[in-house]
Amino acid sequence: MAARNAKKRAKFAAPEPEPQADAIEKFVPNYGRQCEVGQAPCVTGMRDGKVVYDGTKCGVCTWGDPALADPGRW
Ligand SMILES: [Zn+2]
Repeated sequence: MAARNAKKRAKFAAPEPEPQADAIEKFVPNYGRQCEVGQAPCVTGMRDGKVVYDGTKCGVCTWGDPALADPGRW
């Protein structure tokens, strides 16, 4: 559900020269990394099968919502 919403938002966003956050197609969990608060997984952003955002924070810290500790809700 969350990924679908993100995709919808990306379509409405104006194209920007910088590929960063707007270029992320979906978020996947990185279980090989821990957030600074000791929580795993960290948030990784993918587009076209490639990593475009290699986050160092868990879902809670990335979005500031405790419910997003669960990667299933990204
Ligand atoms: Zn965190």
